[in-house]
Amino acid sequence: MEVLIASSTKEICELLAQDHSRQLLAGGTDFMVEVNYGHRDPSSVIAIDRVPELQNWRHDEDSVIIGSCVTYREIERGPLATLVPALAQAARTVGSPQIRNAGTIGGNIGTASPAGDMLPVLSALGATITLRSSDGRRDITLEELITGVKQTSLHKGEFIESVRVPVLEGPQEFLKVGSRSAMVISVASLALITYPKTHTVGIGIGAVNPVPTRARQAEEFIVDYLDWERMQVNSSILENFGSLIAAASSPIDDHRSLAAYRHHSVGVLGQRALTRIFTPRGPND
Ligand SMILES: Cc1cc2nc3c(=O)[nH]c(=O)nc-3n(C[C@H](O)[C@H](O)[C@H](O)COP(=O)(O)OP(=O)(O)OC[C@H]3O[C@@H](n4cnc5c(N)ncnc54)[C@H](O)[C@@H]3O)c2cc1C
Repeated sequence: MEVLIASSTKEICELLAQDHSRQLLAGGTDFMVEVNYGHRDPSSVIAIDRVPELQNWRHDEDSVIIGSCVTYREIERGPLATLVPALAQAARTVGSPQIRNAGTIGGNIGTASPAGDMLPVLSALGATITLRSSDGRRDITLEELITGVKQTSLHKGEFIESVRVPVLEGPQEFLKVGSRSAMVISVASLALITYPKTHTVGIGIGAVNPVPTRARQAEEFIVDYLDWERMQVNSSILENFGSLIAAASSPIDDHRSLAAYRHHSVGVLGQRALTRIFTPRGPND
């Protein structure tokens, strides 16, 4: 196997333009599992994890731009965790410290697994993904990029350069359910992002559909019941809210869970995330 080590994004563009069959290796935590199990047999690999432009992140007034090779280790703590706490919460649940030291946000998107833990957060944040090739750059949404289970709309010769998300405006939550409490792939996951300036919320759900999904009906429903001044929510509507989130899911039975359990748990996660941010208030409170 030919292994090429790229040192700049320009070089990645050139190497991919020369041969579209070359495959990208970031942290290798998904890629190498597939090679080891014989599900992937690349003849030429481009290692992109040493490219400084991809390892960095920055922020301007209202967005954070995260290079595709930024690792979970970097996302889960420090200034990035303050700017986008839900992404940090999700990063902390990924694998083990060893996986989080190597695994990258771009690799999570590139794998396009329904259970990818970055995906519901990016979806709820309305992230923009910047793609790059020798033809230039283009920006698309996560929903446009991930088109099916482990499928993307990446063109030949194109790669994920960075991800743009809004900086923290109000409280954020990420929750996931798995068969144990650590080192576990999601059975259902959910991210809730609040926008106090516009009195709106973003809800992304994971592992319950083939592609990352926004629970838009639940988002529209809940805004009428939130008291942004006191950060309270009318407790009588919580069940309806959970049902609307569950209705946005079409899960499957597989070796990790039954569809019915996934359907139920994503609704519970929604209620739980909401009541961590907004205190439930009864009719007599
Ligand atoms: C033990 C273990 C536990 C895990 N636990 C979790 C978990 O809890 N939650 C979770 O979400 N995931 C988990 N994973 C999966 C994995 O760690 C993540 O999906 C990780 O983000 C993959 O990133 P990577 O840098 O290692 O990608 P790689 O393995 O290097 O690449 C993954 C795929 O993305 C492509 N790719 C990489 N970078 C780019 C780019 N810039 N542009 C285009 N394509 C690109 C590659 O070609 C490949 O197809 C786990 C894996 C292991 C082995």
